[in-house]
Amino acid sequence: MQLIAVVGAGFSGAVVAHELAQRGYRVEVFETRSHVAGNCHTERDPETGVMVHVYGPHIFHTSNELVWNYVRKFDEFMPFTNRVKAVSRGRVYSLPLNLLTINQFFGKTLSPREAEAFVRSLGDSSIEEPRSFEEQALKFVGPQLYEAFFRNYTLKQWGISPAELPASILKRLPIRFNYDDNYYNSRYQGMPKNGYTCIVERMLDHPNVAVHLNSVFTRSMAADYSHVFYSGPIDAWFGFNDGRLGYRTLDFEVERLEGDFQGNAVINYCDDTVAYTRISEHKHFSPWETHDRTIIYREHSRKCEAADTPYYPIRLINDKQLLGRYLERAKAESGVTFLGRLGTYRYLDMHVTIAEALDVVNGFLECEQQQRAAPCFFVDPL
Ligand code: UDP
Repeated sequence: MQLIAVVGAGFSGAVVAHELAQRGYRVEVFETRSHVAGNCHTERDPETGVMVHVYGPHIFHTSNELVWNYVRKFDEFMPFTNRVKAVSRGRVYSLPLNLLTINQFFGKTLSPREAEAFVRSLGDSSIEEPRSFEEQALKFVGPQLYEAFFRNYTLKQWGISPAELPASILKRLPIRFNYDDNYYNSRYQGMPKNGYTCIVERMLDHPNVAVHLNSVFTRSMAADYSHVFYSGPIDAWFGFNDGRLGYRTLDFEVERLEGDFQGNAVINYCDDTVAYTRISEHKHFSPWETHDRTIIYREHSRKCEAADTPYYPIRLINDKQLLGRYLERAKAESGVTFLGRLGTYRYLDMHVTIAEALDVVNGFLECEQQQRAAPCFFVDPL
């Protein structure tokens, strides 16, 4: 039986370990933290009894039926629709930008068709190919909505002017000319009844899988395994030899209170006068449960230093150049496949992470069948 090492016990690592174990491989999983599930980790707060998204809010959504069916093998998914609210200049609005937001913000009663024409008239039509987040916003929603909802929030979140950020970040958010306030366009959405950590534990609960927590896996250990699937930070694999890739990290100001604090799971704070970006009230992620007490996280974003948990890959030009150098080094490696958010240095939602991990397994098995070495990447991280 072949011995495989999987580095990282987030969704990437857990899916690979599970799938290979099912096919008769022996798998050893190495996780530096004291728990599995990576940044999706959930745990019940002993004081309030609320299921907490320890590393910030994770809402499962996908239009990929295969992924939706896959995750539901490991836990029941409860109905949950993310309906975010935003505070801007002392007023509460509905997000993503929709007909209610537009009508409230401009004090109008526009119909969908009127709103679309109105917002188009606000947009800067001289911008043909938006090259930045700011240009993307100015082209599609104009300066008023950009200033009120995106500019300061983005500055707080990324620590960089939206004029320097890629347009792709804003493209994550839809704008709607109806009253649909669902944050996502995905076909399926829900919350695991027992939390994400339970899902990952069930994936890893297999006689062929051994999980080592609090364990660092170094490149020199790779020789003991027939293949390594590495979902840790790609720069760490190479000992940060060329420098560190830039990430944002998050700090959470935690507070426990009685009753209902804000009446919603997530409220964004779009003004620069408020230091945090958003407040998550975790019991609202499990609306099927009842709790008298509540726990809230005020979320602060800052530059990720060496000892911090990396969250969002920044991917500015200098980061991409550095990533290019690591990719060159990676291509000279054999017996290792890099995957996941940290392994490929990309901003990935959970459903994409899972879909890609399943693809990696299929690609690996195909290589095995054809008796050729598996590549170091199954996607292009650039
Ligand atoms: N964003 C914003 N204002 C908001 C919400 C989001 O400007 O009220 C921008 C911000 O730059 C953020 C990006 O849109 O990084 C993507 O938002 P999303 O909610 O997808 O971020 P995530 O949930 O991944 O933190």
